[in-house]
Amino acid sequence: MQISEKIKNIRVSGTIKMAELARKMQAEGHDIIELSEGEPDFDTPEFIIESAFDAARNGQTRYTSVPGTIELRKAISKKFYNDNKVEYHVDDIIVGTGAKQLIFNALLATINPGNEVIIPAPYWVSYPDMVKIADGIPVIVPCDSLNGFKITPEKLHKAITNDTRWLLLNSPGNPSGAVYSSEELMALADVLRDHKKVSIMCDDIYEAITFGNNQFYTLVEVAPDLHDRVLTVNGVSKSHAMTGWRIGFAGGPNDLISAMSKIQGQSTTNASSVGQAAALAALEGSQENLGVWNLAYVRRMRLVRDRLSAVPGLALRDPQGAFYHFIKCSDLFGKTTPQGDQLTSDNALCLYLLQYAHVALVAGTEFGCPGYFRLCFAKSDKELIKACDSISEAIKLLT
Ligand code: PMP
Ligand code: GLU
Repeated sequence: MQISEKIKNIRVSGTIKMAELARKMQAEGHDIIELSEGEPDFDTPEFIIESAFDAARNGQTRYTSVPGTIELRKAISKKFYNDNKVEYHVDDIIVGTGAKQLIFNALLATINPGNEVIIPAPYWVSYPDMVKIADGIPVIVPCDSLNGFKITPEKLHKAITNDTRWLLLNSPGNPSGAVYSSEELMALADVLRDHKKVSIMCDDIYEAITFGNNQFYTLVEVAPDLHDRVLTVNGVSKSHAMTGWRIGFAGGPNDLISAMSKIQGQSTTNASSVGQAAALAALEGSQENLGVWNLAYVRRMRLVRDRLSAVPGLALRDPQGAFYHFIKCSDLFGKTTPQGDQLTSDNALCLYLLQYAHVALVAGTEFGCPGYFRLCFAKSDKELIKACDSISEAIKLLT
């Protein structure tokens, strides 16, 4: 079959590639600890599952309105107002098949060939390829680890050209764990005010997961005057342990939401009706789990940090949010495995650790940041301890 030139140039998602490889090895009988794909290990709370059953039994098994049921969009509008102090009318909200599809549709709806999209690196694996599918040009801005991998106003200012269409801002960040403070967002807003043609996509999917004093803010909250230039993307995947239900949502200017809805109406129609009912229960029900899970994430983050920071050749900094450690490993480059192979990249190290430590991780190169690897700590303490021990043992074998 002929495959289009455009799609030939698109990478397979690095996170999904590694998770599939781990699943394949598991199917072959290997005991692999999968720390590559980023998702909570907690089960979706029972009351959410019950509400999906009820919805299915009550006939919510048909197509819904393309941008989502009115009940769910009302609950999302309330969530934006209560949690973020941001006003989005129900007509300015769209529900999609995961936050991923909404980011994709927003880019498809707005980019003309040659438009540039600023992506601070390290970035979530899918952003650059989504931009390319939409015929845009990803403009990768490497961010300094010493600044917590956050884009600075100076770097943003330098990256903006006449062709810039979007800035993609992800906080808490995947894989960096960076959480932008209100002051940092305000400083970026100052730059953005001078460039009215630039829209800003805020990927807030990890909003619920922040550590210590790192409080979550979204851009429109601290810079309300930018309201009509921002798409605020969020969802229940990470917050409510609902990755498989595939429900994301976004609030933004009505012309953008309508264009995204047009694309959805010609592609997937609507997010699953039963999934939407479950998301409604998630947003309207008790939020108790979020706090309990956050405590578990902090404990696990420290557990991994304490074990791996003692391993020569690895360097870790505590993330401010999300559930990833982004670990510097470039000091191990040049070392030789027991099989006589020289490790020359983070990809080679991840393959070595998969084969010899039986731990699946994702190379920093996939996130536009060579010399690092990402470890998802949304796993049980037992698995994490075993994984850290195995990684440590495998690294000790390098000469
Ligand atoms: N943005 C980031 C930064 C993510 O890590 C993910 C996780 N896949 C998504 C968006 C997509 O979320 P969803 O599962 O709701 O599509
Ligand atoms: N967001 C998760 C990750 O970064 C899930 C996989 C994906 O969609 O990329 O691992």
